[in-house]
Amino acid sequence: MNGAPSQHIAVVGAGLLGRLTAWRLARLGLAVDLFEAGSLRDTPKAAAFTAAAMISPLSEVVDSERLIYDMGLASLDLWPLFLQQLSEGLSQPLQPASYREDGSLVVAHQQDSALLQQFAERLQFHLGNATEHSQWLQQNQLRELEPDLAGFHRGLLLPREAHIDNHALLTQLLTALQQLNVNCFERTPINNVNAHYIDTGTQKREYDWVIDCRGFGAKSDIKDLRGVRGEVLWVETGEIELQRPVRFMHPKYKLYVVPKPNRQFIIGATEIESEDLSPISLRSTLELSSALYALNPAFAEARVLRSDVNLRPSLIDNRPRIVTKPGLLRANGLHRHGYLLAPVVVENLVALITQQHPFSFADTLIEAQA
Ligand SMILES: Cc1cc2nc3c(=O)[nH]c(=O)nc-3n(C[C@H](O)[C@H](O)[C@H](O)COP(=O)(O)OP(=O)(O)OC[C@H]3O[C@@H](n4cnc5c(N)ncnc54)[C@H](O)[C@@H]3O)c2cc1C
Repeated sequence: MNGAPSQHIAVVGAGLLGRLTAWRLARLGLAVDLFEAGSLRDTPKAAAFTAAAMISPLSEVVDSERLIYDMGLASLDLWPLFLQQLSEGLSQPLQPASYREDGSLVVAHQQDSALLQQFAERLQFHLGNATEHSQWLQQNQLRELEPDLAGFHRGLLLPREAHIDNHALLTQLLTALQQLNVNCFERTPINNVNAHYIDTGTQKREYDWVIDCRGFGAKSDIKDLRGVRGEVLWVETGEIELQRPVRFMHPKYKLYVVPKPNRQFIIGATEIESEDLSPISLRSTLELSSALYALNPAFAEARVLRSDVNLRPSLIDNRPRIVTKPGLLRANGLHRHGYLLAPVVVENLVALITQQHPFSFADTLIEAQA
């Protein structure tokens, strides 16, 4: 590392980017202060906690662009390394099952099979020969992989996709930060985020670098930042077992079900161009639960544990961006791709602070300001 280890850094926002960035920098010996508007443990406000936490470059390219896929693959390579390094210093690290890279499935009922076909064609459109990236499964193969999807005649397996227990990850990152002597300030909203200093409202604090990771909370400082509302349901049942995320194609909605620890599942997600953070609507509750029921009627007896609503921090092109000027980095725009892209964004932030060679995708991600 060329950058001086004695640098003092403020990271503002303790969601996905904030926690990961603070941890990567603290590991290198830099002095880091982390400021969070909400609570760090109880009902945190970050979209990072609402997310289903799929790391799905293939599914996401279908509705976005090739760049998201390429960056997503680079992140997929980084996650196992990050998790290994995180667990090294922790007494109770993430269990291996909490990060699983055994693909995801896309299914549709027979009457909607055109939607599944279209998904496969769009994959091919973006990536060329889709057979390298996906595999058609007939009913018996599907049943072998996921016995509780026996009602479907065929499905598409996307092998190079992963999912993570994000609540465990975010909690463990906080523990690691405390072990690395990062000063973590909760319930401390910072609305004045500047080059070389922040203003807490009662105090001006100076730093070598300030890193703005406030997600949607940075709206007043980033003119094309918008929030995209997402609603999810959490259910619990012992009747169904799934090993991997399942996307369900339906004429009215495209939804996913992601298995979580303790027989829980997250069902999501709506994508609404609105910055409304009020509770989940009746319509969304019905759509999400009927999709679940259509996936397997045994979900009917599942217990609904809770719903959650949050805003995806999104820029005009739905790409992430790091705006840099001396003493200030603003990283934002992870949109629906937080877990998919965060490692690449974070490694670019670290390279900027430590003056290492630019990390992959720096040309696309970084925008310099005078
Ligand atoms: C329903 C839903 C499902 C999703 N599913 C997935 C998925 O499966 N896969 C995937 O890759 N991505 C998913 N995402 C997207 C992902 O959650 C986001 O892209 C990611 O969390 C953005 O990270 P961030 O750190 O920029 O923002 P956040 O995680 O939102 O963190 C921002 C933090 O900054 C804090 N903050 C805000 N203002 C201030 C202030 N003034 N002072 C101090 N702190 C402040 C906030 O309280 C928050 O803790 C999903 C999002 C939603 C809403």
